[in-house]
Amino acid sequence: MPVRGDHAIVLGGSVAGLPTARVLSRYFDTVTIVERDPLPDRAEHRPGVPQSPHLHGLLYGGRLLFDEIYGDEAFTEAMRAVGGPYFDFGRHQAFRFPEGWIKRTSCDLMVVFATRWTMEHVVRRLTQQVPNIHFVQGHVTGLLADTTGARVTGVKARGEEGEWTLEADLVVDACGRGSRSPKWLEKLGFTPPEESVVRSFLGYATVYGYVPDDAWPGDIKSIAAPPFPGATRGGFVVPQENGLVGIMAAGQSRDYPPGDEEGFTEFLRTAITPVMYDMWRQCEPVTEIETTKTSQNRLRRWHELDRRPQGFIPIGDAVAAFNPVYGQGMTSAVLQAKTLGDRLAENDDLDAVVTGFPEDAVQASQFAWSAATDADLGFPVTEVENLAVSDKDPETISYLSDMRRAATFDGGVASAFFRAQATLNGGLLFQPQVMERVRTVLAEAGPDERDHERPPEWSEDAEPIALS
Ligand SMILES: Cc1cc2nc3c(=O)[nH]c(=O)nc-3n(C[C@H](O)[C@H](O)[C@H](O)COP(=O)(O)OP(=O)(O)OC[C@H]3O[C@@H](n4cnc5c(N)ncnc54)[C@H](O)[C@@H]3O)c2cc1C
Repeated sequence: MPVRGDHAIVLGGSVAGLPTARVLSRYFDTVTIVERDPLPDRAEHRPGVPQSPHLHGLLYGGRLLFDEIYGDEAFTEAMRAVGGPYFDFGRHQAFRFPEGWIKRTSCDLMVVFATRWTMEHVVRRLTQQVPNIHFVQGHVTGLLADTTGARVTGVKARGEEGEWTLEADLVVDACGRGSRSPKWLEKLGFTPPEESVVRSFLGYATVYGYVPDDAWPGDIKSIAAPPFPGATRGGFVVPQENGLVGIMAAGQSRDYPPGDEEGFTEFLRTAITPVMYDMWRQCEPVTEIETTKTSQNRLRRWHELDRRPQGFIPIGDAVAAFNPVYGQGMTSAVLQAKTLGDRLAENDDLDAVVTGFPEDAVQASQFAWSAATDADLGFPVTEVENLAVSDKDPETISYLSDMRRAATFDGGVASAFFRAQATLNGGLLFQPQVMERVRTVLAEAGPDERDHERPPEWSEDAEPIALS
């Protein structure tokens, strides 16, 4: 591979920073990951990732992207080797839409799940095996610039031995949704990016434990019943490594699930479906119930800056962070990392790649951003800052609702929906053959007399829709 520079620094060694470092290791002699936490040599929670006690579902597309970046099926194999359950999402996932339970059908969308700390440990170990990637512990406090002030040339950090600096041809900010890089750049004379924020006031309460095998309804292996307008109490039950199960209560519109056992139980009892409550009653918990309210969608509009620093790009949650209930953040982060690799492969000119990357990153995040914010805007309490929402196309909104309804009747539509969601490729939903199937299914559906309280049993696979 052609070398684009001697040294790249990645700030933050989490789910965005690690695959980004792997991508850059193909184009730079040396890559240094600067991470403020001491990195554990086993799978465990660390303070720099406060969201890690909560369920993290990795989409099918995210799994494929990790495999592509780390080579062969290295990620999937490593996840399975640590006991991560591996199954067809279309066949074994019970998923509740506002319009009902999605029809389950085999569609070869194989997912692999694990706790957040185990998944990160797997990715970290794969990254540590790359000889030209080095890990350094340090709390980054600022950026260095050259004498013109136009180019970032390195970072300032604080470590055990005091303050230090490190120089590089490229600095990548993967410090997450709380990244301070806009402030660091402002100190160098750059205008910080504007931010668009959409807040629907979601909270999570999560606990891990073990349930008997027969606690799962039928052949269902995972349950997702996110809240929707008019039903603010939802939840998830997701298999983790080695038989562990995560049970998470999710409340929208400030209907935050409590962290005490009694309140948590009552929340699940009164949620959209009683299946989470049924499983919780049979669960032997092995952790405390952890809560969080970190859920706002926030887009930093780096792509709208006229004057951009050379030698610096942001990636992952530092660009776009989403309401986590839609499970897209990690896949969006790794898609951005893959896109960066594609640009470096196409273009010898590092400055050109850096200048264009904010557009690439926002493009890679676009489907996830629209899916999360459109859904959140359906809740009346949702607050919006610096985002035009009046130009949402009513025909599209109405079609997407039709599509969800059709997906509760027809496995072909369900499979197309899951594939679009799992690969962050909204275009699949609008392919003519999908739109035609939606029309046909709804024309034949008639009035809905089904009972949506619990997920229906699997009946048979549907005729798939050929997607192009
Ligand atoms: C409650 C919750 C649940 C979620 N559930 C899902 C889910 O189900 N599916 C999904 O795909 N996504 C989910 N996400 C999103 C997911 O956590 C992120 O998208 C993902 O971790 C990628 O983030 P990142 O690497 O950009 O940032 P982070 O994971 O936040 O990592 C940032 C890293 O930067 C380091 N750092 C920060 N500042 C500095 C500094 N100054 N110097 C050095 N290091 C620094 C931190 O220690 C950390 O290691 C969830 C998020 C939340 C909040």
